[in-house]
Amino acid sequence: MISLEILEDIKGKVRPELENRLRKEDKYIIDGDEIGLKDEYYQKQTRIALKNCDIIDPKNIEEYIAMDGYSSLGKIVTTMKPKEVIDIVKESGLRGRGGAGFPTGRKWETAYEYDADKKYVICNADEGDPGAFMDRSILEKDPHAVLEAMAISGYAIGSDQGFIYVRAEYPVAVQRLKLAIEQAKELGVLGNNIFGTDFNFDIELRLGAGAFVCGEGTALMESIEGKRGMPRTKIYRTAHRGLWQKPTIINNVETFANIPVIFQKGVDWYRSIGTEKSPGTKVFALVGKVQRADLVEVPMGMSLREIIYELGGGVPDGKRFKAVQTGGPSGGCIPEELLDTPVDFESLGKIGSIMGSGGMVVMDEDDCMVDIAKFFLDFTVDESCGKCVPCREGTKRMLEILERITEGNGKEDDIDKMEKLAETINSASLCGLGQTASNPVLSTLKYFRDEYEAHIKDKR
Ligand code: SF4
Repeated sequence: MISLEILEDIKGKVRPELENRLRKEDKYIIDGDEIGLKDEYYQKQTRIALKNCDIIDPKNIEEYIAMDGYSSLGKIVTTMKPKEVIDIVKESGLRGRGGAGFPTGRKWETAYEYDADKKYVICNADEGDPGAFMDRSILEKDPHAVLEAMAISGYAIGSDQGFIYVRAEYPVAVQRLKLAIEQAKELGVLGNNIFGTDFNFDIELRLGAGAFVCGEGTALMESIEGKRGMPRTKIYRTAHRGLWQKPTIINNVETFANIPVIFQKGVDWYRSIGTEKSPGTKVFALVGKVQRADLVEVPMGMSLREIIYELGGGVPDGKRFKAVQTGGPSGGCIPEELLDTPVDFESLGKIGSIMGSGGMVVMDEDDCMVDIAKFFLDFTVDESCGKCVPCREGTKRMLEILERITEGNGKEDDIDKMEKLAETINSASLCGLGQTASNPVLSTLKYFRDEYEAHIKDKR
């Protein structure tokens, strides 16, 4: 049976081997308990969710343990009450990294407070924003961090069953997760009587078939239940009646990856990073017209300019920066004059975009902003599940207008029509996909209206 002593023994044996392996390459800094990547590029980042990525062998559970893996779970289930666990998550200020930024501790507390014979923990790994690969990287490079966090949340809310809903298009992530679950069960950190207690927790994988809407919590649960993945009308909160009508918490991969580290290093340490209202870090998939397209993890509150220029190296080929799109198809396009905006949930919301799950697409002077809006809306039209009219029909009509504008057939009242349509689609759609579908159009209209007007005027 696994115990904290056995974990310590494994760490004592494997940590020197890991450090010796890493020392052979001139890529790492080993400083006491800390191991990090040496390159100046990584020194500018703060890696919490990605802390073990590119350091440990994700196929080897012992290397995860050598980085203090499963020690948080061990301490929690042997020494803490569920409510104490929830209080620590609440005090940390951790907010969901999947898009909405809802306080994680409050979500857990709600599920904890409902009495039920069964409760569920779900990891949403149905990452679908164009250009985003944050979750995939964490699952491929550090799968045990997510398993450990799910077990911690299971203990906190009183659940013995977790599901990871992961895209089938991520075969390496699926393979690594399967192996990690097997290893964790064999070691006894998943399964029955974890750390000799009466806490049982199992995790199963469910593969998503690639529908973007299944990243929406209620559609995801429908899909796990074996039904067509369409959003539910939200009468109850998921933490009250979620999967099979039982109390359920859903967090995304990055949110979970923060949990073990918060318990290892403490709330004060965690809250010292980021901003008061958005503590911690955020992982972004920085892509598009930047010198270095990559995953970056930065403290909340870093400016867009610092991310794009200091980490991404700026726009290549001497071209002029034009805009950055954050938040995927639900987000907005931000112009150059707002590049000093700090990246946190509130600040991005104020300028008409969102944090989203972390997609960050940079555009240069060659990009037409009407085309960009059309690209994202085209994506939304394809991915609309069709359940409600405002989204199903409204987004199609809006796309038709955008198409005629870009084809040189725009009409004088097209901009007005799109703004009215956007208002209706946003306010009357059933789920977040429809409610945010117009954002790329509205934000480009707000900051790049002249480009729309030029398209319409040019044809006359
Ligand atoms: Fe489906 Fe769109 Fe309605 Fe959501 S808003 S339920 S995706 S049709």
